Amino acid sequence: MRLYDTATRQLQELPPPPGPIRMYFCGPTVYQRIHIGNARPFVISHWLKRWLERSGYEVTLVENITDINDKIYDAAPGDSARLAADASGWYVDDTSDLGLGRPDVEPKATESVPAIVQAIEELLAGGRAYAAGGDVYFRVSSFPDYGRLSGRHGDDEATRNPSEEEEEEARKEDPRDFALWKGHKEGEDTWWESPWGHGRPGWHIECSVMAEQHLGPVFEIHGGGIDLVFPHHENEIAQSRSLGHDFAQLWMHNGMLRLAGEKMSKSLGNIVSLRDALDEWGRETLLVYFLGGHWRKPVDYSDEVLQQAAAQAESFRNVFRGESERGGDWEPFATSLDDDFNTPDALAVMHGWRDHDLLRRGLEVFGLESLGDVELAPAELEELARARLEARAQQDFATSDRLRDEIAEAGWEVRDVDAEPGYQLVPKR
Ligand SMILES: [Zn+2]
Repeated sequence: MRLYDTATRQLQELPPPPGPIRMYFCGPTVYQRIHIGNARPFVISHWLKRWLERSGYEVTLVENITDINDKIYDAAPGDSARLAADASGWYVDDTSDLGLGRPDVEPKATESVPAIVQAIEELLAGGRAYAAGGDVYFRVSSFPDYGRLSGRHGDDEATRNPSEEEEEEARKEDPRDFALWKGHKEGEDTWWESPWGHGRPGWHIECSVMAEQHLGPVFEIHGGGIDLVFPHHENEIAQSRSLGHDFAQLWMHNGMLRLAGEKMSKSLGNIVSLRDALDEWGRETLLVYFLGGHWRKPVDYSDEVLQQAAAQAESFRNVFRGESERGGDWEPFATSLDDDFNTPDALAVMHGWRDHDLLRRGLEVFGLESLGDVELAPAELEELARARLEARAQQDFATSDRLRDEIAEAGWEVRDVDAEPGYQLVPKR
């Protein structure tokens, strides 16, 4: 099994089964209902875990919840703790409705602060960080490999670490430096004790510490959206390697979701929440939609693309409405997934299968086995449908229309199909 690694910019072979494969994926910052783009790393990480487990691996998946962050303070001044708690609940509810299970561990930043403080103290003791005016900053110049993941090496504007405050900027020795700890500011309703006074951790150190707390100082896969490569993951590497830890061995970054060709983001105001998408399309259509895009590539989100996914989901149901036919081969399906987890290819392979057991086994990898739970029509409706077919064959359209209406009144739709027996009964939604 091989996967593309951002750090080496090539496909990397995973260790042979049973591994272990320890995975950390960056979860959402919780201050609103997550958007459909945030759901992509959740879906990909769970599918990958399921596939690796079926391939004989021992897998641990950790996905954090960022519940301390500037964005949360900005979204609910003075009341951020309540918003973060509410939004954590929405995140768990909405992603649970995808029907893929939960990560093995879902650490929250608010529950990890003592370990974070300890990591910062170690970085300070090693000269990798400095305290300034109640804050603590990571000293980027102390880490020569800085920029290797993202390819941003220079001191140019692009390599600056974002800083909200001019004051903060003035405290930094180097514009590339980033906050490990931020002193408490007026209006912030949460803070924690530390050797540097009241304050709270920076976002990057939260993830370094939560990953290592639950997976150890070295683990196989770190994932997240491609927008996290810089500065978030670059900074995670700098922190953890400066502590003498090997940290992640392979970096998986998924492509963004685009709405009308633009990246979905709060600042652009073009957001579709996972909740709304689930309510509008249902989990099966959404999952088929995600299957159709390679995890590394950007994917467009539009009514048209979702309608196509709905039609694909329906075509799988239709296979189960017909007779199971022998034939079809697991091998090309497995090969697609083992080669950089190519779900669009695996999807295409499944569309060729008519063997119910084989298809159910394939769909089950992606949590889609429910597509096989098709409702079969009662015998009296089958009889009406057969009579209608006969009437049509004799050009008796008045009778055939009457029978179609009768079937519709019973809550079913009769469709003409080429395959035997020449019709299909589908429950009306
Ligand atoms: Zn993270």
